[in-house]
Amino acid sequence: MKVLKFGGTSVGSAQRMKDVSALITSDGQPKIVVLSAMSGTTNTLVEIADYLYKKNPEGAHDVINRLELKYMEHIQELYNTEEWRAKTEKFLREEFSYLRSFSKSLFTSFEEKVILAQGEIISTNMVTNYLLEQGVNAVLLSALDMVRTDKNAEPDFNYIREKTQEQLEANPGYEIYVTQGFICRNAYGEIDNLLRGGSDYTACLLGAAIEAEEIQIWTDIDGMHNNDPRIVEGTEPVRQLYFEEAAELAYFGAKILHPTCIQPAKFSGVPVRLLNTMDPTAPGTIINNQMHRGTIKAVAAKDNIICIGIQSSRMLLAHGFLRKVFEIFETYKTSIDMIATSEVGVSVTIDNQSQLSNIIDELKKYGTVTVDKDMCIVCVVGDLTSQNVGFETLAMDAMKQIPVRMISYGGSAHNISFVVAEADKKRALQALQETLFKYDGHVRRQS
Ligand code: ASP
Ligand code: MG
Repeated sequence: MKVLKFGGTSVGSAQRMKDVSALITSDGQPKIVVLSAMSGTTNTLVEIADYLYKKNPEGAHDVINRLELKYMEHIQELYNTEEWRAKTEKFLREEFSYLRSFSKSLFTSFEEKVILAQGEIISTNMVTNYLLEQGVNAVLLSALDMVRTDKNAEPDFNYIREKTQEQLEANPGYEIYVTQGFICRNAYGEIDNLLRGGSDYTACLLGAAIEAEEIQIWTDIDGMHNNDPRIVEGTEPVRQLYFEEAAELAYFGAKILHPTCIQPAKFSGVPVRLLNTMDPTAPGTIINNQMHRGTIKAVAAKDNIICIGIQSSRMLLAHGFLRKVFEIFETYKTSIDMIATSEVGVSVTIDNQSQLSNIIDELKKYGTVTVDKDMCIVCVVGDLTSQNVGFETLAMDAMKQIPVRMISYGGSAHNISFVVAEADKKRALQALQETLFKYDGHVRRQS
C-alpha cells in the first residue's frame, strides 16, 4: 500500500479537490491519503485563536463568518448531487457553530489546538464525501485515533504503528483511506498537532507504520531543485536523494519537505517521492536509501542566521571550555546549527534570536563575544566523503570572490556549509551553480 499526502494548495479549491480525487483513484490501488487543510485555512484558524486570546469574540466571529461563507461556496461547486451537498453543508454548519462556541469559555492553548485541528477535519470530510458521491469505495479514518505524541511532544511511533494497523484491520477492503495530516493527540489524550507544515510528517509516520511501498508527497512544485530557482537561473530538478542528503536540504531551506519527517521513513526504509499535482506525470524526486558516490546533488541556503564568536585565551589547552559555552545555549533552549573551532575561539550559528541578549550576557563571562546578524548558511549537499577528493576544494573555489565568515566540513559525509552575509547569498549560490553543475572536469554531477 502507498501513502499519498496532498498539501494545502493541492486541495485549495473545489476544482483541486476534484483533481486530487481523480488522481488517487486512477490506478484502482488501495492507498492511504493524508490531506492538509485547504490553503489559508490554518492561518485563518490561527487568526481566530488570536482574537479569542485577546478576548475579542466579535473579531473572531467576523473571521469565522467569512470563512464559513467561503466553504459554503466551495461545496456548491464540489458536489453534483443535492444529497451530498446537503450532507456536507450540515457537517460544515456544525463545525462553524462549534468554532463560534469557543468565545464563551476560557481560552487556553488547549482550545487553540482544538481550533487549529478543524482545518484538516473539514478538508478530509469534504474530500471523503466527494469520493463517496463519485461512488468510490472510500472511508475516513481519524488521525486522532492513530497519531499520538509522547511526553516530549515527539511522535510515539510504537503507538502509531499499532493503532494504524488496528484501524486498517477494522476497516478492511476499502480503496481509499482518507485521513488528516498535522493533527494528533498528545500524551494526555488531548487534541494536539505536529506543528505547522506537519502533514508531511503525518504521511511519513503512517508510511513507516505500515511499511508502505512508498510515501508520496504531492505539492505544487516540481520536486527538489539543485539550487534555489527563485535566485539562480538554470536550476534542474534532482531526481534522487539519499535520506541524509534530503534531511540536510530540508533543514537548509529547501521548503519542499518538512525537515523532521524524513526520519521515520529512513528508519523503516520506505522511499519518499516528491511529486507535483500540477504536472502529475513528471518524475519528481525520489528519496531513498541509495547513496550515489561521486555526485553533488544540490545547493541550498538558509537566511536569518546569527553568527556568534567567542574568543578566549582561556580556551588554550583548557578542557571543558566548549561544554560551558554549549551549556549556555542549552539553558536558553537555543539550538546551534554550525560550529567552527580554533585553539583560541569558537564560532557558532543560531537561527532563533529570541534569547540572544541573555546568551550574549552569559557568554561574556568566558571571553570576547562578537555577533554578526543577517548572515546565511549556504550548503552543498552530495557525496562529500573525504575519500571523494576534490568536491570540497571545488566548492571552496567557487566561493573565492565571496567573504566567508565560517566553513563547516566533516560533520557529515554529505555536506559542506559556508556562512556568508545575506547580501552575498545570490552571488554565492550562482557561483556554486556554475562551478558544481556546469564544470566539465572529473567531478561533474553524474545523475
Ligand atoms: N495545515 C497545517 C499548516 O498549514 C499543516 C500542513 O499543511 O502541513 O501548517
Ligand atoms: Mg505544507
